Amino acid sequence: MIEAMNSDSPQPASAPQHFSAEPLDLLILGAGAAGMMAAISCGETALQMSRPLPRIAILEKNTRPGIKVLVCGGGRCNLTNAGDIDFLIAQFGRNGRFLSPALRHFDNTALRTWFADQGEPTHEEHDGKIYPDSNQARTVVDAMVGRIGQLGVVCHAGAGCAAAHVGWNAASGLFSVRTADGSVVQSRYLLICVGGQSYTRMGTTGDGYRFAESLGHQIIKPRPAIVPLLCRELWVSELQGVAVRDVEVRIAISEPLPRLATGKPTPSVNDLLFTHFGLSGPAVLNLSEIVAELLEKFTPVPLRVDFVRRQSRQEMSAMLRAWHDESGRKLVKTMLAQLVPQRLADMLCRLAEIPVEHPCAALTGRQMHTLTEYLKACRFQVHQTRGFKEAMVTAGGVRLDTVDPNTMQSRLNPHLFLAGEILDLTGPSGGYNLQLAFSTGHLAGWAVAQRLANG
Ligand SMILES: Cc1cc2nc3c(=O)[nH]c(=O)nc-3n(C[C@H](O)[C@H](O)[C@H](O)COP(=O)(O)OP(=O)(O)OC[C@H]3O[C@@H](n4cnc5c(N)ncnc54)[C@H](O)[C@@H]3O)c2cc1C
Repeated sequence: MIEAMNSDSPQPASAPQHFSAEPLDLLILGAGAAGMMAAISCGETALQMSRPLPRIAILEKNTRPGIKVLVCGGGRCNLTNAGDIDFLIAQFGRNGRFLSPALRHFDNTALRTWFADQGEPTHEEHDGKIYPDSNQARTVVDAMVGRIGQLGVVCHAGAGCAAAHVGWNAASGLFSVRTADGSVVQSRYLLICVGGQSYTRMGTTGDGYRFAESLGHQIIKPRPAIVPLLCRELWVSELQGVAVRDVEVRIAISEPLPRLATGKPTPSVNDLLFTHFGLSGPAVLNLSEIVAELLEKFTPVPLRVDFVRRQSRQEMSAMLRAWHDESGRKLVKTMLAQLVPQRLADMLCRLAEIPVEHPCAALTGRQMHTLTEYLKACRFQVHQTRGFKEAMVTAGGVRLDTVDPNTMQSRLNPHLFLAGEILDLTGPSGGYNLQLAFSTGHLAGWAVAQRLANG
């Protein structure tokens, strides 16, 4: 049994667990961002209503809570985004409206205030990304784990504590959850927030979809999202590690794009990173959910990258013409390196069949045209994503029309709640997905506290 466990504490991975024989008020599956925030919200709401603290327990399959939060933002934890509520909603595409009540209940300002009250102030960086002042995800997890302990919430963590089977008994009005070690825990209310099936090594293997389905919920096909892409152009591997700032990535399918489940806008504008297998970086990652869906219909999916999006095609052609006329003795690759990283400049010259030591004066009209094409509309044939193993989030999940957005309560069973990444909601990189988990988790915890108070 783990109470107020610090994220640094050594964990007895398979310590025997002692589950109370008495049914709990609330059992939470998954001590991730949503689960921990739900436990906190339920306890704090009870205190605000001058009610006794509810009997809450969390089952977590990892040896400690918040493992996935620890890897967020490269270990710095980009815990939310500074955008206003409408902006946040828009990031989630067609399904974003569902989030409106949860965000109005507990938005990014409320989240930052909550963390500041725990001694964990935050600050804004570029693109509205919010990080803890500590720049360490560990302190974010510690703040939540500490508060959970103060509120008397018990977190059972370790492989044996993984929820294995979930059942509902209408006669007793109780959920029974069987754990991997064969124990059974009973509870009046159940919150499932075990995440999606991305980054499987962190314990998120899609268990929640099975639980939700067994309780009557439909699952929208899970797909990897915020995931690097593999492309056929072999030359990209030579650029491994090269980052290009502020590019535009567009899906270049000539026929009208089919109506996609995401309803998210393209193109994507942000930074791009070349990897040994293909493309990554926010501009690509944020488009990857759509690409993953398209790959089921088209292979390969063509992408067009504009490396110099601030110059129009005409401006770019005029610039090359001016280099030719006015900077004739300078090398083309040297001039190009003013626009893109040197290694990419060298590669674009090679692709445009411009010799390494070519001076600008020697540029032909055809070379200028080809170079402009490579700069403004470089084509990549994507044939695969890196899959769930490397996806940061899972698109798809529990169908939203079976969940009440005002409470996160299941419309199929009023004792069941769902929150976080398990829902059919996916945002881009930039703090949106953690805010989704925190907001829906907080709302679910609040709603359970209301139900408990009303008997
Ligand atoms: C590398 C990486 C970096 C990321 N960076 C950011 C970022 O900076 N900002 C951002 O907004 N988002 C980021 N994300 C996404 C973010 O981590 C998720 O959106 C968020 O954690 C989802 O919260 P959740 O509580 O729904 O699920 P999770 O945080 O995934 O928590 C679910 C928990 O349930 C547990 N679990 C699973 N199955 C069971 C079971 N059967 N029984 C018991 N427990 C179970 C898991 O072990 C896990 O602890 C990142 C993701 C990755 C992989």
